[in-house]
Amino acid sequence: MATIEYLAQSTSYKIKDLAEINPGKHTQAEVARLFGVSRQCVNEIVTGLNLKGKFKRHSWSSLCLGCGKKILSENKSRLCRNCLNESKRARCTCDNCGEVIVRKISEAKRHRHQFCNRYCVGAYAGTHYGYGVRSSRSKL
Ligand SMILES: [Zn+2]
Ligand SMILES: [Zn+2]
Repeated sequence: MATIEYLAQSTSYKIKDLAEINPGKHTQAEVARLFGVSRQCVNEIVTGLNLKGKFKRHSWSSLCLGCGKKILSENKSRLCRNCLNESKRARCTCDNCGEVIVRKISEAKRHRHQFCNRYCVGAYAGTHYGYGVRSSRSKL
């Protein structure tokens, strides 16, 4: 039998506890992360319980670990949006012309070969699988 827990209520209790045990130790953002709720949710609870003063303000270092710029939207990786995007990208070289291309790691992993454009896909396919290889294949 599953137990039903009223999330909003239990979270607000936990937040209240936390604020009273360690006032000024956490930011609302940290609390949100800690309890797996949204910051807005924490903010509503904190405002509702009048606990604003019990939380640290913007204490977490909001500088990007990648470029050192101020991070506007918080995320777990401590990277700004740009660096976060960069971290998900990989540099690879076109299998046909050797040009460096940047693409998402997830995308790059999906393909065995990387090409910078359709032309290179065609050219590569032509020389490796197409009519162009007939002569070299006949030698095999
Ligand atoms: Zn950055
Ligand atoms: Zn190419």
